[in-house]
Amino acid sequence: MQQAILFMPRLRDSLSLKIISLTLLLALMTLISAGIGVHSLNEFKDDYQEVKDRHLNALMKVSELRRQSQEIINASMEMFLATDLTELQSGILDISDKKLRIDKIIEQLQGDSINFKALDDLKKQLYSHLQDLVSALEYKFQLEDKFFASYRSAEALKLSQLNKSNMQLFVVMDKAISHFNPIINKNNVAYRATDLKALSSFINSLKGELGAEQLAKIHDVFIDKTSLASTYQDYVTHNDKIRKLSKKNEYFTSLFVSTLGSEVLAVQNRLLNVLNKLEHETYLRKSRLYFVLFISLIATFLFVLIQLNFIKRILLIRNIIDSGHNEKTTANFPIKGRDELSHMAKAIKNYIERLLKKEQEIITVNKQLTYLASHDVLTGIFNRHYFDQFLKQENERYLRYKEKYCVAMIDLDHFKKVNDNYGHDAGDAVLIDFSQRVLAHIRKTDVFARYGGEEFVLLMPNTVEKHALMLLERIREKIASEACTFNQHQISFSISVGLTEVQKIDRAEEQDKQLTFADLALYDAKNSGRNKVCVFNAKK
Ligand code: GH3
Ligand code: MG
Ligand code: MG
Repeated sequence: MQQAILFMPRLRDSLSLKIISLTLLLALMTLISAGIGVHSLNEFKDDYQEVKDRHLNALMKVSELRRQSQEIINASMEMFLATDLTELQSGILDISDKKLRIDKIIEQLQGDSINFKALDDLKKQLYSHLQDLVSALEYKFQLEDKFFASYRSAEALKLSQLNKSNMQLFVVMDKAISHFNPIINKNNVAYRATDLKALSSFINSLKGELGAEQLAKIHDVFIDKTSLASTYQDYVTHNDKIRKLSKKNEYFTSLFVSTLGSEVLAVQNRLLNVLNKLEHETYLRKSRLYFVLFISLIATFLFVLIQLNFIKRILLIRNIIDSGHNEKTTANFPIKGRDELSHMAKAIKNYIERLLKKEQEIITVNKQLTYLASHDVLTGIFNRHYFDQFLKQENERYLRYKEKYCVAMIDLDHFKKVNDNYGHDAGDAVLIDFSQRVLAHIRKTDVFARYGGEEFVLLMPNTVEKHALMLLERIREKIASEACTFNQHQISFSISVGLTEVQKIDRAEEQDKQLTFADLALYDAKNSGRNKVCVFNAKK
């Protein structure tokens, strides 16, 4: 994982990062759309609350209208009980106050009421009725005043008869006036209406008893148009009108009760309908929103899971490829899963393992090839090719630093005979034995190589002729004195050596000439009896 972070490329270059960013963006958009959904639901709830409030308000107003209408009718009823104009006027004030309130409520109800037009018409009817009632009641008080004025003048006339000791007329007038006494009690108008007929017949019955002048006076006071009787008649007629108006009050009461009652019910029903509808709508919206949110969240979650798996697989593939480069093994990355990417990862892993195996084989073969290119297969020491390179290098060093070196050419004496006598395998064994013994004597910096057949060369860097000769003599003696054991055979052999210290030559690349000098010396050794070390002599 740490490695994955270290290798984290830029967004522009990385498929994984793009996928992660896109997933995050999708998750963010899901959250944003959820937020918008919740917000619009809240807005709807606010609207819903507003509609609910408006309807509740309308309901309250209709109820209030019903109460106010009842009160205005009650107030109008009370006006019937007014005993004088002052009481009536306070009733009128009360009613106009209530009218204002009703006007306000009806105005506010516009749009919220179901029967606004009906209510408004009803209101107008009520108001015109109230107008009629008020004028009727005012007129009643005027009639009452007129009646009492007539009554008082009749009383005065009656008393004047007493003063004049006109007893007959006094009694008649007292009797006549007594017919109007009940008017002071303002109720029971019907009773007094029948009584007036009795008064008329009573006055007519006096025609025989009273003189014409007296009769005319009585007639004036009680029967004439401006008389007590006529005023009373007007009053009675007007009271009938008022009674009808009182009936109308009852009619309005029942009309208001029924109209407003049904209005209240209608508004209530409408409110309930609206509430039900809105609640249902809210429920639907909420359910829909939660459903969509739930699905979106699950989908996002699954999407993220799949993307994570996807990225995990891609990182795994990358790690497998990287490990192929760096660690030379893919064993650290076990692959689970059976999806396409896992298959791909397995295929890549197999492929890389095969590549690594092949690489290993190539390295081994290369090592072998390198070994074979520089070594002799039989003896394991360097071969001629390697030696030539080394000699060239050493020669260059000599030319530059004047560091002397020596070269020796070594040949096994009568080696053919070894082969002939003991077989080719014995010859091989002798060659190996010889090589090992030489290696045991020389320095690590010396280069010992098989030059071909039973010929060997030894390069001794940083060595002068004298020391090289000493070394080669020691080796020659050792070889000659100790036989080689092969298959119970003791095989004795000797070597001839041609030695030369580095000779001045004209051209740097002609290092081969040093070998020629050594060879010449070897030739001398062979010719002078073998088992010898001869040194090249340039003066010869
Ligand atoms: P001289 O003393 O003059 O050098 O005599 P010689 O017999 O050693 O020389 P010659 O050149 O006549 O013979 C060399 C022999 O070495 C011939 C060959 O069969 C043998 N020989 C060369 N390479 C090998 C090898 O790798 N294994 C074996 N067994 N014999 C080899
Ligand atoms: Mg030879
Ligand atoms: Mg030989």
